[in-house]
Amino acid sequence: YVAKTTHAGVRVYTSDDDRNSPRRLAMVADLREAIQRHDIVVVFQPKIETATGLVVGAEALARWHHPAHGFVPPDEFIPLAEHSGLIRPLTLHVLEVSLRRCATWRRMGHDIHVAVNLSPNSLQESDLPDIVARLLGQTGVPASALTLEITESSIMADPTGAMVILDRLHALGVKLAIDDFGTGYSSLGRLRELPIHEMKIDRSFVQRIAVDHRDRAVVRSAVQLGHALDLMVVAEGVEDEHTLLHLRQEGCNLVQGFFISKPLPADDFADWLTARIPQLGGA
Ligand code: C2E
Ligand code: MG
Ligand code: MG
Ligand code: MG
Repeated sequence: YVAKTTHAGVRVYTSDDDRNSPRRLAMVADLREAIQRHDIVVVFQPKIETATGLVVGAEALARWHHPAHGFVPPDEFIPLAEHSGLIRPLTLHVLEVSLRRCATWRRMGHDIHVAVNLSPNSLQESDLPDIVARLLGQTGVPASALTLEITESSIMADPTGAMVILDRLHALGVKLAIDDFGTGYSSLGRLRELPIHEMKIDRSFVQRIAVDHRDRAVVRSAVQLGHALDLMVVAEGVEDEHTLLHLRQEGCNLVQGFFISKPLPADDFADWLTARIPQLGGA
């Protein structure tokens, strides 16, 4: 079986063989309860324009503090949710919280968007576009201020079905981003056909561009490809100023990473925004 050990020592089983192990079932039950009680917290990481430093948006990232085991990373509990039928309520919770927060920031005068991650399963759910439309209506966030992040592999599972849902989301005016670009099964032909707005270069390519000319060549090509396809190109995982300067030289549009800010609780994010844009502080 495949078992991973987290920092907190929590073991989350991901293989089918362990689907019914008592430990795994207990974690699934705890996760179900956490989702129902809204104990899954959403944190926000700013996305800024590389050339100007202007904040354009924030990515929503789910956090789970298990009452007994402590922090469980999303790389552990998202797969658990995906394999136990919990990803749908989890996604809807993150989507709703994110849109409410985005509405608040926009009322404060910040013209920013929010980005929410989708699991592959979500692209198989034909009612997703209707749910998204309803939540946009309820929160008053314009469709163009919502970005949904998907991965290449989530499309490959059922390209035809996924395409129908992506087209409907696109028709609503929602923006779509390809996340972790470069790590999945990329069909360049498919990329050209997708109604996407944004390409996010995976941080594994970004992190060493200041010291490794090969990584820099990969990032340069990705930026060129993105621009050739009229996409906004985002670099993830920017941890220092050198990396940021290189990305600026390469013409990468947007950046995200610990150098700008770690993901922040919603209230802290609002404070961070206000501090960064002093002229709006008193508004
Ligand atoms: P992702 O969507 O690619 O999110 C970016 C990840 O990179 C986040 O990890 C973020 O905290 C981390 N990160 C950001 N800047 C830096 C940096 O400068 N250095 C380093 N080392 N890391 C950085 P996180 O929050 O642990 O999330 C991991 C993955 O879990 C996400 O990757 C996403 O695929 C998934 N995930 C998180 N929240 C959700 C959710 O609400 N729904 C779904 N379906 N997946 C989620
Ligand atoms: Mg993402
Ligand atoms: Mg990513
Ligand atoms: Mg990722």
